[in-house]
Amino acid sequence: MMQRKRLKPCKTCGTKPVLEHWASGGPMYAVRCNNPDRPDSCDEAFYFSKCRNPDEAIRKWNEYQENGGTQS
Ligand SMILES: [Zn+2]
Repeated sequence: MMQRKRLKPCKTCGTKPVLEHWASGGPMYAVRCNNPDRPDSCDEAFYFSKCRNPDEAIRKWNEYQENGGTQS
């Protein structure tokens, strides 16, 4: 049994995020801040984490919370 990776809380508002998935020409995954009143800045991490692999989405979300996703 693989251990699920931990999601860091949203650094903008401190809310616990959720892993979302949908289909867009194939499976898509992204982690979103679960604050219903979140400011737009919370969603930057959501767009940054968007990809086709859930583990990668979690990794990218955590990376964004650590370094702000400033790299290109
Ligand atoms: Zn947030």
